[in-house]
Amino acid sequence: MHLLCINRSIYIAYILKEKLRKLWKQPSRQQAKRFLYDLYAFMEKDVKKLHKEAIVWDCHNDLEYRVLYKGLDIGERLPGGHVDIKRLKEGGVDVQVVALFIQNYLYPDKSAWQAFKLLRAMKKAIDKNSDSVELARTGSDVERIVSEGKIALPLAIERDHAIEDSLELLRKFHELGVSFLTLTHNVSHGWADSSKGPPKWNGLNELGHKVIKEMNRIGMVIDVSYVSDKTFYDVIKISENCWGRSCRSWSRYVSTYPFTCGNPWSP
Ligand SMILES: [Zn+2]
Repeated sequence: MHLLCINRSIYIAYILKEKLRKLWKQPSRQQAKRFLYDLYAFMEKDVKKLHKEAIVWDCHNDLEYRVLYKGLDIGERLPGGHVDIKRLKEGGVDVQVVALFIQNYLYPDKSAWQAFKLLRAMKKAIDKNSDSVELARTGSDVERIVSEGKIALPLAIERDHAIEDSLELLRKFHELGVSFLTLTHNVSHGWADSSKGPPKWNGLNELGHKVIKEMNRIGMVIDVSYVSDKTFYDVIKISENCWGRSCRSWSRYVSTYPFTCGNPWSP
């Protein structure tokens, strides 16, 4: 289903590119104007149709901070930012990944505590708005939730140090509903090198290998945003499941599309 959407997006993007190229070849201002009207009609009809038919994902949002620290209700139209349930519906977004962002200075022993706090706040917000949104743990959850006319909210942890170098904590977060983990942010911590700063482990160290294997086993999505080149290639070598890049990142540009395969979760 998602692969189909990506292929169709590529097709529409290709047509748009071709049409825009032709714009520069219009002989007069008047003809160029008419051309733009046609282009607008094409976008109104075909692009909106595609957007409506596809399962539309936004793979990264830091909404949870305002939920926890400002007590905002995502069911209301929020005074700032870009995202709340009303605006997700208006924008035709079906899946919103919420990233629980953990600051560096909380490492090594307070980052899990912060992640649990954000997780609890976000789950409370989801429960409060259960008529419109639902926590999604798997790809099948996403398809079911969207088919019921609701918005699926998978949860991610942004920054590896939330697990405080512990496979037990990784499993705990997954058990509680977290299904994505960004391997690093812009600092290298206990088991993976970030693309920012000098390498500490030359990619993934022994624990990093174990983390990837464990994420494969329990069915978590590996997010390679921010990682160093070597960490990226180590992940490709070790991981038996797919990986993705969800966020703007310091790492080098590796892919035109945020995820390399349709369903990021294991069946
Ligand atoms: Zn973020």
